[in-house]
Amino acid sequence: MFKINDNYLKLPGSYLFSTIGKKVKEFTTNNPDKEIIRLGIGDVTLPLAPVVIDALHGAVDEMADAATFKGYAPDLGYEFLRQAIADNDYKARGAEIAIDEIFISDGAKSDSGNIGDIFAQDNKIAVCDPVYPVYVDTNAMSGRTGEYLVDSQKWSNVIYMPCTAATNFAPELPQETPDIIYLCFPNNPTGSTINKDELQKWVDYALKVGAVIIYDAAYEAYISEDDVPHTIYECEGAKACAIEIRSFSKNAGFTGTRLGFTVVPKELKCGDVELNKLWARRHGTKFNGAPYIIQKAGAAIYTEEGKKQTKEMVAYYMENAKTIREGLAAAGYTVSGGVNAPYIWLKTPDNMTSWEFFDHLLNTANVVGTPGSGFGPSGEGYFRLTAFGTHENTKRAIDRIKSL
Ligand SMILES: *Cc1c(COP(=O)(O)O)cnc(C)c1O
Repeated sequence: MFKINDNYLKLPGSYLFSTIGKKVKEFTTNNPDKEIIRLGIGDVTLPLAPVVIDALHGAVDEMADAATFKGYAPDLGYEFLRQAIADNDYKARGAEIAIDEIFISDGAKSDSGNIGDIFAQDNKIAVCDPVYPVYVDTNAMSGRTGEYLVDSQKWSNVIYMPCTAATNFAPELPQETPDIIYLCFPNNPTGSTINKDELQKWVDYALKVGAVIIYDAAYEAYISEDDVPHTIYECEGAKACAIEIRSFSKNAGFTGTRLGFTVVPKELKCGDVELNKLWARRHGTKFNGAPYIIQKAGAAIYTEEGKKQTKEMVAYYMENAKTIREGLAAAGYTVSGGVNAPYIWLKTPDNMTSWEFFDHLLNTANVVGTPGSGFGPSGEGYFRLTAFGTHENTKRAIDRIKSL
């Protein structure tokens, strides 16, 4: 008789975005004449850059010719892409990452979930609260998080690091010592960042207590302030304690195209076991690599023209972020984020809960956002708006909110 992985049964049933979908559907059914504007999208909307489209076409043609056809990609990914990453994302930032420390994948979501495979079940994880839900959910699926406590909306065996207004939406070193620390900067959903000195404190702490940091830098391209690190490997000692996860989704619009990578430095060891070797074994066996065509498309963003075009995409979204941030501040809202990230985090007015404000905004301004409580208990009383819409819709949505 087969058995299921009953850790899945412990997961809270209703996923944040399905609840939002249900509420919006109900509203549009009851109000067919009202036009909804979505500022809750956690997905890019601009088309792929021209250099990327050219690279895709070129790679498809290569697949049509026996002389240039490609079968399985190399386990770690094509060298042309790993070299471009090592040069542009690391060497240019003063970090030396070897190409066999870079593992190409089909995205950061897969990697941030799959990386747990190389760690024992009895590791204790620490997460920022609120944060991107994938870290906790995937650890729950592998039985690392204890029981879900409905009242506190917390897992019994997870160390939550509150990121609230009191701490400038940054985590503080935890009281209890974790084994695995997830950090995500610039942060989804708060849009907050920490500077290099602050990140160095986390690296020093991890080295001291023997923890590993899993650093999600999916929004690296949105950083506009000079003292915010672009990679954790800008910090001294990070290669001995940190794994970094990156994505082509938010900087180059690959959410539907799928491409990301993970850096596992050879210096990172548990006793005398190199984590790089474990991840190489896992990567080669379970294979979450990306197709040749997609890797060619990814390499195109590192050309001069590719850099220019992807910068323009990011700038387009960041103009929306500015519209939202400044418009809401002018309307009297308490807002943060939106400077180094496409996310604006606002305090709900009149002590409304996150879901009360969701309903209020939907019913009065016909604007859809994301309740902060969906990202962790400390997100209660907050709300996330995203900059991934069009200029026009973003302006209209903010005008509607201003006139409430
Ligand atoms: C969007 C997002 C990702 C997902 O990246 P993919 O490469 O599309 O899987 C990873 N981490 C964070 C924090 C994100 O917001």
